[in-house]
Amino acid sequence: MTRKVRTRIAPSPTGFLHLGTARTALFSWAYARHFGGEFVLRIEDTDVARSTQDAVEQILASMRWLGLDYDEGPVYQMQRLERYHAVVAQMIDAGSAYRCYCTPHELDEIREAQRARGEKTHYDRRWRPEPGKSLGAVPVGVQPVVRFRNPVDGDVTWDDLVKGPITINNREIDDLIIVRTDGVPTYNFCVVVDDWDMNISHVFRGDEHVNNTPWQINIFNALGAPLPLFGHVPVILGDDGHKLSKRRGAVSVTAYEEAGYLPDAMLNYLSRLGWSHGDEELFSREQLVHWFDGQHLSKSPAQWDAAKLSWVNAHYIKQTDDVTLAALVAAQLKRRDIQVEVNDSLGRMCALFKDRCATTVELADWLTMYFVEMKPSAEDLAAHVRDELRPALLTLGEKLAAADWGKLGISVAIKETLAAHALKMPQLAHAVRVLVCGRAQTPSIDAVLELFNCQTVLSRLQNT
Ligand code: GLU
Repeated sequence: MTRKVRTRIAPSPTGFLHLGTARTALFSWAYARHFGGEFVLRIEDTDVARSTQDAVEQILASMRWLGLDYDEGPVYQMQRLERYHAVVAQMIDAGSAYRCYCTPHELDEIREAQRARGEKTHYDRRWRPEPGKSLGAVPVGVQPVVRFRNPVDGDVTWDDLVKGPITINNREIDDLIIVRTDGVPTYNFCVVVDDWDMNISHVFRGDEHVNNTPWQINIFNALGAPLPLFGHVPVILGDDGHKLSKRRGAVSVTAYEEAGYLPDAMLNYLSRLGWSHGDEELFSREQLVHWFDGQHLSKSPAQWDAAKLSWVNAHYIKQTDDVTLAALVAAQLKRRDIQVEVNDSLGRMCALFKDRCATTVELADWLTMYFVEMKPSAEDLAAHVRDELRPALLTLGEKLAAADWGKLGISVAIKETLAAHALKMPQLAHAVRVLVCGRAQTPSIDAVLELFNCQTVLSRLQNT
């Protein structure tokens, strides 16, 4: 019998949505969409001290921004405590979990004695019920933890969707604490109850969880719950070969949104970190879903490549229609306190500059000159707006004032000025660029100028 495909992403709301989690979310989402299944968002907020509502909001916003739509959720673990406690009670009754009354001090003593004997430290199972074993009196005033009664013999084996077969001997595994003294159940336990209740068929997650999987499989088995298939995705390494981390640059999805990346570009780029479809580098969301069947996931770590992301984003910027770009650029300009209308004129500005921009921030850098007076640098003024050009600049101003405002009229005014003063195009064009645009290099000057209001150009030409 084949199970309906149901995948999930289960971020802990202790910070923004990390790029690594976003990539796992993307794989889980694409896998569910490919097989016509369902994708669930679960918020793992049992670490009460570190979880915040602000982080939840950021995670939801990042999922929305990336277009990773989910069919269920967000489901919050803290709202499921009753269910976890009910399962714990069942397990205690069934003998697959037990209360342990060891104090932290006792546990330290156990570990110290083991170290002294040169043994690997582990819980010595002193509260674990066994036939014929007497457990001693329950100490007064000690709040117990609940431990899972892990099998002591045999192996746990699973065929990892990414890493292939993995086997761990049960002797390597302690009796895991599933409820802490404060009554809050722990990650490895909640995750199993959730994946079971949510009927999750495939678990994709970061490979830092490989060591948790044997416990989880044992708990699934103890509950008689069907096992999902597991796929552990290797980490993403930063440009410097170390694990991508906050200390080494931007790792949140939000930071990339702010830095002017497009969600489709981000999705395209992230999907190629640890997965491939032949040599394809640029593809749509639909193509990704069409291709993503869980094969061709890489066993080795992926390498973050900022230059490649930039290249992918530049491609998407070129492909994006001007009205959409105008709205994105307006949002970037707003961050700089420049309020602009999203209209046809802003769209034309985007059209003129988008081919030379890798991000909407770069596009906003260009378009700022249309809304804010740009102060040319002293070097540019000295190099390009030399005194002998001033008569020509005056002529140009007069001709532009009389011109039929548009590319053609501007071009004619420039040509007539060049002829009248026996100048070459670059001499005049550079000076005009520096004065009007605040920089010496721009696309074709007539195309750049026509998007300004004529009065603005005239007044900036006088700024010498
Ligand atoms: N909350 C865990 C994490 O953020 C989820 C692990 C899992 O997917 O099972 O790493």
